Amino acid sequence: MRVEENKPLAPYTTFGIGGPARWFATATSEDEVVEAVDWARQRGVPLFVLGGGSNLLVSDAGFDGFVVHVALRGVSVADGGIYQVAAGEMWDEFVERTVRAGDAGLECLAGIPGTVGGTPVQNVGAYGQEVATTIVAVRAFDLQAYEFVELSNAECGFSYRKSRFNTVDRGRFIVTRVDYQLKAGGAPSIHYSDLKKVFAEGSEPSLDEVAAAVRKIRQSKGMLLVDGDADCRSAGSFFKNPVISDEHYARIAATSAAQPPKFSAEPGKVKIPAAWLIEQAGFAKGYALGNAGISSKHTLALINRDKATAAEILALKERISAAVREKYSIELEMEPVKLGF
Ligand SMILES: Cc1cc2nc3c(=O)[nH]c(=O)nc-3n(C[C@H](O)[C@H](O)[C@H](O)COP(=O)(O)OP(=O)(O)OC[C@H]3O[C@@H](n4cnc5c(N)ncnc54)[C@H](O)[C@@H]3O)c2cc1C
Repeated sequence: MRVEENKPLAPYTTFGIGGPARWFATATSEDEVVEAVDWARQRGVPLFVLGGGSNLLVSDAGFDGFVVHVALRGVSVADGGIYQVAAGEMWDEFVERTVRAGDAGLECLAGIPGTVGGTPVQNVGAYGQEVATTIVAVRAFDLQAYEFVELSNAECGFSYRKSRFNTVDRGRFIVTRVDYQLKAGGAPSIHYSDLKKVFAEGSEPSLDEVAAAVRKIRQSKGMLLVDGDADCRSAGSFFKNPVISDEHYARIAATSAAQPPKFSAEPGKVKIPAAWLIEQAGFAKGYALGNAGISSKHTLALINRDKATAAEILALKERISAAVREKYSIELEMEPVKLGF
């Protein structure tokens, strides 16, 4: 493992924003993961685990600690059709492989950037699927116990964009492998309205066709990484969809011209799209504040229009959050992880 100093982090993020890491190394094996942990411990410096940098906003000053870039590779198929995938594999390439093999369960998650190791962290989801449904185990180095552990699905504590990895045990585990149980020869999932519009009732599209449709929809929303498209210089959705009480929703509906959209959540609550709230609060696609902006294709994505700083992104976030708070008494929650603030 080679430790570099003052390594620029912006090129390791999809935002393309942020200063350097004081120290930086790439781990390509579990031994190197432990080596990185030891290196940081011996020097008493904070450790940050970097995957594909697609859910990350790095501060302009950078990170005064040690960044370990997880780059372990390898995919194997174990008994029972369980894929065991090293954390540094690129997520979309893995999805493509499963779709080609005719194994159902991830086809709606095509086109999401980042690594396999990043997927359990925020329970990645899109178009009616989330990884919590297919993950059967996560292998990780537990910094607290100083040993490798294998966590079952139940032990990961998954919920909407959450797991123990980004809540109660943030920073405790370095994921090195994720196991997914897929359904050989299974039918694709077509539950999301955008997909239902593409495939007529009763049609039987292949996994491949559904994954291709998902990529196409994602591209139309700037949610697919496409070279030269400024609308995807983002961290994907910047805000989570708030979950509010039925009463709160009713109060919003009573003052709205049209019925606000909603999705089901736990009993007594509904999920209301953050994009709708933002638009109603006066922000449109393409809105700009300095070099930061809202994607011209999707209200939920804040983008780096050109050489934006992290401070500019956060200023825009604050402006949007304040307007939504003022109008609806809802506190928008940021989805990407902040580093070095
Ligand atoms: C254009 C675009 C579209 C997107 N669309 C979606 C979407 O539809 N649905 C969705 O859920 N997300 C979406 N995202 C967000 C992002 O792609 C996912 O959250 C992805 O899983 C992040 O993985 P990563 O490897 O890039 O993680 P990073 O951004 O590198 O890290 C994110 C967090 O995970 C932690 N982490 C990463 N790897 C590991 C590891 N091996 N062990 C422990 N912790 C780790 C980091 O420490 C950090 O806290 C999108 C992003 C972009 C840019």
